[in-house]
Amino acid sequence: MSARHDVAIVGGGAVGLHLACLLAQRGVDVVVLERRTEPSHLSRAIGIHAPGLAALDAAGVGDAVRAAAIRIRSGVALSRGRLLARLPFEHEPILALQQHRTEALLRERLAALAPGALRQGVELVGLASGADDVELAARGTSPVRARWAVGADGVRSTTRALLGIPTGARPGSGGYAMADAPDATGAAATALLHLEPAGIVESFPMPGGQRRWVARLAAPEPGMTTEGLQRILDERLLAPPRLPPLAPTSAFVARQRLADRFALGRVALVGDAAHEVSPIGGQGMSLGWLDALALDRALAAALDGSGEAGAPFAAYERARRPAAERAMRRAWWNMAMGSPASAPRLALRLALVRTLAVPPGRTAVTAAFTMRGL
Ligand SMILES: Cc1cc2nc3c(=O)[nH]c(=O)nc-3n(C[C@H](O)[C@H](O)[C@H](O)COP(=O)(O)OP(=O)(O)OC[C@H]3O[C@@H](n4cnc5c(N)ncnc54)[C@H](O)[C@@H]3O)c2cc1C
Repeated sequence: MSARHDVAIVGGGAVGLHLACLLAQRGVDVVVLERRTEPSHLSRAIGIHAPGLAALDAAGVGDAVRAAAIRIRSGVALSRGRLLARLPFEHEPILALQQHRTEALLRERLAALAPGALRQGVELVGLASGADDVELAARGTSPVRARWAVGADGVRSTTRALLGIPTGARPGSGGYAMADAPDATGAAATALLHLEPAGIVESFPMPGGQRRWVARLAAPEPGMTTEGLQRILDERLLAPPRLPPLAPTSAFVARQRLADRFALGRVALVGDAAHEVSPIGGQGMSLGWLDALALDRALAAALDGSGEAGAPFAAYERARRPAAERAMRRAWWNMAMGSPASAPRLALRLALVRTLAVPPGRTAVTAAFTMRGL
């Protein structure tokens, strides 16, 4: 049996790595069990909101992320090429950086703080919580023991399943297709939202002169091809982008689920393991980093014995569950505004967008886009 760690984190994704950096900075003996042997390059998050960036600063990687990312300084809503609204994010720009690059910076930081803490190719398969510690059975290594454990293992969390914690569906689901292409819009620091009858088309600048195009579908289409997405963009936009023939194109179904509880005994859940927030609005990863800040404090108190007796994660859950619920309500709103609509319904929506684009509505909408209050 191996030595007992202070904290074992299951999952070395964006949130597990961030939490590990926070703990390692405190001198906590932390180990991260990650089932992948190689980093994932799947196209996922790009947007990093100001509160998420502050959380990265707390882990010592904010400056490295700033240096690699580009800034999205405004959002523009259009319909049939007509400007409906412009939201400036000048004071709180949203950064854009591919998730795999952010994760690489977090891995580098963790390796500097705690060499060897990340153990790749190790998959959690069993969990036994005792009075003083937790034993984690894992494929790829002998059992790992820790005083506290954290499930940061994503939407299909094995940790959550082993704890028997159910998740409940929340409103907001829809099919989307996306691809990245060279940015020829001439709007390199602007997110563009095209509200069209067949469904919204959103596009976001990315580093390297690229832009991500995301289209709402009438129904999920798992086998979406680049040609299929190009057809949709051609039909909906006056000046559609040219997707390169081999542009990796993916289709996904956005949905929202919340775990019934965020902790059980000596084990807490964090990030997507606790809440699956729709990617539309792009806030899941930053939300996870804000969870990690709160969980870092809870774990520090649990380790030094100053936490709430018998309920070490109660304050963590009290703070973070409402934040996840707020993020889900915002994402639901974003998805509803972008769904396919009849002409009268779309006209109502466009009128609403115009109204919300001027104060006082603008303050609330900007807060929602920039994750203020989460
Ligand atoms: C298309 C798309 C676009 C998005 N855009 C944005 C955006 O712009 N901004 C934003 O904030 N969010 C966005 N999100 C959401 C964001 O990607 C997630 O919220 C984020 O990845 C959550 O991080 P996590 O570490 O909690 O989970 P994950 O990133 O899923 O990491 C979980 C890790 O756990 C590992 N693991 C799983 N099971 C085990 C096991 N049994 N044992 C060991 N390891 C295990 C996995 O290999 C993985 O590395 C987007 C998501 C999608 C799908």
